[in-house]
Amino acid sequence: MKVYVSVDLPDDLAGRIKKYAEVVGKDRAEEADAVLCFNIDRELLLRMRRLKFIQVTTAGLDHLPWEDIPPNVTVAGNAGSNAAPVAEFAVALLLTAYKKILHYNAKMKGGDYSRDVEVPPLEGRKVAVLGLGEIGARVARALAALGASVYGFSRTPKEGPWRFTNKLEEALAGASAAVSALPLTKYTRGMIKYEHLTLMAEDAVFVNVGRAEVVDKEAVARILRERPRFVYASDVWWGRNDFGKDADIIGMPNVIATPWIAGGYGSAEIRRKMLEEAVENLIRWLRGDAPKNIARREDFV
Ligand code: NDP
Repeated sequence: MKVYVSVDLPDDLAGRIKKYAEVVGKDRAEEADAVLCFNIDRELLLRMRRLKFIQVTTAGLDHLPWEDIPPNVTVAGNAGSNAAPVAEFAVALLLTAYKKILHYNAKMKGGDYSRDVEVPPLEGRKVAVLGLGEIGARVARALAALGASVYGFSRTPKEGPWRFTNKLEEALAGASAAVSALPLTKYTRGMIKYEHLTLMAEDAVFVNVGRAEVVDKEAVARILRERPRFVYASDVWWGRNDFGKDADIIGMPNVIATPWIAGGYGSAEIRRKMLEEAVENLIRWLRGDAPKNIARREDFV
């Protein structure tokens, strides 16, 4: 077996793969049975006639050239490899916004020590968690532990300290906060519209750590204009890494913005763990065991 590794892999991790397969560079990629990558080049893909398995280093798989990946090639993602820190980040964004920490911090620094806005409890309030996967389930458990009444939304019913629903409207109606940890697929793109956001409380907090494109950008701009107490707190943006494209929304007073740092981009330690888990999953495939996180092709094509 031959594996084409297109990511920068530390020697010890490359060594683990070499116990099971020959590692080849780009010059011999066409000989590879499997590839370990962040993304794969369309042209190269068409030339890789022996390719059977693609191991991606990220949890999200929306950036892949799905149309050009032959149906007989199995694609595995890396969900779970950074889920704990991303879940921590989601809870941090939610609580920072909900508890008005940036508001009071700015006032205090300016010498204004007055108390002018309410800081309500989250305990007993309805919170929607959209996507009950590796990230969402962790967020939902953490918020339930704080006493929030958690509604968990995904396709497949999942047990946990939440009320499960597969209806977005039921999850969001009257919610004081929502966290989206949904992947971007052909089904979730633009899924959250203006009508959905209006179902939430007037002063609700909407956190997004999944992908920006799951939420309609115009809907976010409109609700933020119409409801000055509504907060959109997000780590992910419609312009992807070109954050300037979203400067109009990022600059709004009721937005809390971070530059996609919840996961791998935020920490070398997290990136290392992502590579480790991707390598382990690739080795499962090389050994003939069942790999984790097999993508559903029909979500993308
Ligand atoms: P998982 O694959 O573990 O979870 C995805 C969840 O979304 C599952 O519960 C799945 O439910 C649900 N889902 C998928 N499609 C739909 C749909 N059409 N309707 C309702 N629910 C749906 O992934 P993770 O939790 O690890 O990651 C989620 C996303 O977060 C990634 O895809 C990535 O885009 C993003 N991410 C962002 C990071 C950052 O740095 N900000 C870092 C890591 C990930 P079901 O089981 O029913 O299909």
